[in-house]
Amino acid sequence: MSNAGSLVAEAVWKAIESTRSVTDDQLSVATRIVDQSGVKRVLGEPSGRSIFQVVGESRRKEEYFCFAEQYCACYSFFYDTKNKGEQLCCTHQLAARLAASLGACIEVKVSDEQLALLLSKTPKCLTFY
Ligand SMILES: [Zn+2]
Repeated sequence: MSNAGSLVAEAVWKAIESTRSVTDDQLSVATRIVDQSGVKRVLGEPSGRSIFQVVGESRRKEEYFCFAEQYCACYSFFYDTKNKGEQLCCTHQLAARLAASLGACIEVKVSDEQLALLLSKTPKCLTFY
């Protein structure tokens, strides 16, 4: 990790800590995911739109599609974040943000058609309930 990278990471941690929006557990899981190169950024071409694909911590190593800011396809996002409002984001979103700020994402380029297809397979928040 470069020095610039650690500075960015530090700034991200500070922001997270100051809002007290995530737990220590979430932080350590997110860091582990980033360490294991578990964050992919799927980039649609030519639009440049992208979505994160983050490997979960369960034994099945499921991959969740997520937008760092507003959405993740995992259960915790729907249950703890959306439903109970207890946390600001899930560990996958945290890992995605961290990896993005560190430049630690694995970039995967696909066509816009492929990206649209991936998104269409992503469960929607509203149909989940
Ligand atoms: Zn998630």
